Amino acid sequence: MTTKATRRNFLLASATGVGLLSSVPVRAQDDVDTPTVPPPKFAIVLFEGKDLSGWVSRKGGPAGWRVRGSYMEVVPGSGDIYTKRTFGDFQLHVEFWLPYMPEAKGQARANSGVYLQGRYEVQVLDSYGLDSKDNDCGGIYKVGAPLVNACKKPQTWQKYDVAFRAPRFDASGKLTENARVTVFQNSVMIHNNLELPRTTTPGDLDGEVSKPGPILLQDHGNLVRYRNIWIVPVK
Ligand code: MG
Repeated sequence: MTTKATRRNFLLASATGVGLLSSVPVRAQDDVDTPTVPPPKFAIVLFEGKDLSGWVSRKGGPAGWRVRGSYMEVVPGSGDIYTKRTFGDFQLHVEFWLPYMPEAKGQARANSGVYLQGRYEVQVLDSYGLDSKDNDCGGIYKVGAPLVNACKKPQTWQKYDVAFRAPRFDASGKLTENARVTVFQNSVMIHNNLELPRTTTPGDLDGEVSKPGPILLQDHGNLVRYRNIWIVPVK
């Protein structure tokens, strides 16, 4: 990269107030919403913008997040929400939107999370322009950093496409194969068949890794939005 291009990227990043320490090139498409992806015919639609009838609150009772038009938004303090249905192996599509929080730092900046089976968190965070670590957006905490930083800017719709393979057990209930996950963020691969040797967060829903589990979305106190969530169970 030329010095001129580097300076231009720095100025662009400065103008947005994010990515000031970035070595990641700023791209024009980073503030373009990902197009919404229609569910394929085999999919179970988990959220399509109408209501949260398919979800419950981790605190008990109905999901406490608000629905506005096509999206749902975290109501801080209302707690995590998760699907009534549970899943084993699956393909999952989630679209998310992060608020712009220039005053916040690190894990306080637009934090949420998508928990596979309620146990393995794919981090949701404003990590735009950073050299991503395992706790940044797309990271699997203490297991794997994203292969690349594929983040868009905050206030832009992004997407995760996840292929999840549940752990395997023999007839006696002994673990024979760990869970594995492949993740695409905004159509870019960020995890390639990554082995998940344990549940990945203290916020794990139940620790019962031999059973199917729900999709859980984290209330981390920030006004993160989700839309168009669907899943294709894999037999
Ligand atoms: Mg989180």
